[in-house]
Amino acid sequence: MSASDNMIPAPAVRSRPLIVRHLPYFIGAAVLVTLAAGMRFDGYILNILLQATTFSIAVFGLSVVLGLCGQINLAQAAFFGFGAYVVGLGTADLHLNFWLCLVGACAITLVAGAFLGMSTLRLGGHYLAMVTISFQQIVTLVMINAIGITHGPDGVANIRRPELFQNSQSYLAFCVAMLAIVGYLVWHLPDTKLGRAMRAVRDNELAAGVNGIDVFRTKIYAFGICALLGGLAGGLFAGGFAYVSPDQFSFAESIVFLTMSLLGGVASPIGSVIGTGLLILIPEWLRFLKSVPGLYLAIYGLFVILIIRFMPDGIWGFVADAFTRWRAHTKAPPAAAALQLKPATTGGDIVLEVTGLSKHFGGLKAVDGVDIAVKRGGVHALIGPNGSGKTTTLNVLSGLYKATSGRIVLDGTDITTMAPHQRTAAGLGRTFQNIRLFRSMTALENVEIGAERRGNTMVGKGDDALTERAMEALTFVGLGSRANELISSFSYGHQRLIEIARALASNPTLLLLDEPAAGLNSTEKLELHELLKRIAAQGLTILIIDHDMTLVSEAAQHITVLNFGRRIADGESMAVLRHPDVVSAYLGSE
Ligand code: ADP
Ligand code: MG
Repeated sequence: MSASDNMIPAPAVRSRPLIVRHLPYFIGAAVLVTLAAGMRFDGYILNILLQATTFSIAVFGLSVVLGLCGQINLAQAAFFGFGAYVVGLGTADLHLNFWLCLVGACAITLVAGAFLGMSTLRLGGHYLAMVTISFQQIVTLVMINAIGITHGPDGVANIRRPELFQNSQSYLAFCVAMLAIVGYLVWHLPDTKLGRAMRAVRDNELAAGVNGIDVFRTKIYAFGICALLGGLAGGLFAGGFAYVSPDQFSFAESIVFLTMSLLGGVASPIGSVIGTGLLILIPEWLRFLKSVPGLYLAIYGLFVILIIRFMPDGIWGFVADAFTRWRAHTKAPPAAAALQLKPATTGGDIVLEVTGLSKHFGGLKAVDGVDIAVKRGGVHALIGPNGSGKTTTLNVLSGLYKATSGRIVLDGTDITTMAPHQRTAAGLGRTFQNIRLFRSMTALENVEIGAERRGNTMVGKGDDALTERAMEALTFVGLGSRANELISSFSYGHQRLIEIARALASNPTLLLLDEPAAGLNSTEKLELHELLKRIAAQGLTILIIDHDMTLVSEAAQHITVLNFGRRIADGESMAVLRHPDVVSAYLGSE
């Protein structure tokens, strides 16, 4: 962008300690807890507040699994019920200590959630929805029919509370405190390593994988946390009402939890509290309509539909989005030093050695016995007509596809069977032909994901170091001054640059670029060309796919040509471009 981006100014501002920045939150929470303990609510209000507080904690779970990680869970009422029954049966029938039962409720739901996740999260999408519904139904059936243990439809009565909070008012205060603590953790989850991984998985699973994130494990964590919060909330609910029965934890309740989450704003715990509060209060407000059958439900439904129609990200999402946009223009990003690329220099002369690589889709041999040897520190181009297997080759190299046969060695390590995030940890960085950015994040957050890869020796400990590295990479591609803007406000060409910055921030040993010039205008192409030169000047090895022969012949020392999945030429650039097979197969076809 502008020259000012490349000046080296004062070091980035260090953030104040967490505890100081968040003091207002804790003061607010303390006030609420005091109010809950001190105000004399009548029994009816008390029950509504107790319900809203415990339900909100269960809905926090959905804001983690669905809001942060993008995975559906239609069994939150089952986890909630699970927790309620553990505390209920534990304290009423087994006369166990309340705290022990509450911890047990959390542990059991965590394990149940993780197991359920492990068995289905690889399938994703519709399967996940179906399996969670089945789980929900099974839990309900067990509650109703395992009469010997659960008392069946009669439910569990005489559930006890801890000695400390025998009084309903003090128990409410305790639940509000729990809400504040859990809310705080969920609120800050997005800014942790795990939270960033979840958001990346939600936005773009493929890109998350090639940027070093273990997609499957991240989903399991999200699912486990969601279930745990359901169990905790259910345990608190059971203690609060002293009586639970199977109909309180049916599939319909899971849908209510989901609606609460979507209504308030699935991406934030604040949305969870708003949505839960509203869905508990609206029926109370509309109570006067109950004399007309049907009218109440119709108005209730209409209300929910209107909010979701006009605020697709929920009530809080609507507010937060405006805030993010406003902040992008007011909060100046920190200044950055020059980006250092320190590609590994150990190992042999060959960074990437591909032998006999094949990828077949049924009968189609998209890649067929290809050999490629990429020399350290050079630019190696992979060219060929459309459909010749270039992108497929890159996808097999980065682990998005399993090789049908062949061997891939990166810097002496055999990566042939590794998952994408493991290859990234081993030193592979890449961009996509059709840009894959994390669209709900800012440019800076996108690049931070790249910087966070395991084994990145260029990033020190802590979030400040991460931000610094990401700012350096963004500044390197000329977009440092727009770091806090959302992806949607960047032009196509700039989005490409952000994707390159994301890969560079990870300090890869080998950078794979799939048609970086595609879709760029001629000015942008020149800028890209200049950027590639600056990258290569730092000694980073690049394997690039491109159609622009000028770019290829100027930038690359070595060219491999594919046609119909086979390698038809390979060698020093000028010689390859004059090769008769290449001229006829590639250039001749245009
Ligand atoms: P290039 O990048 O060289 O233009 P591709 O690698 O994208 O070519 O595609 C090579 C061939 O493999 C094409 O015939 C394409 O249709 C086919 N192909 C690519 N991906 C898949 C897939 N996931 N399933 C089936 N066929 C595919
Ligand atoms: Mg392609």
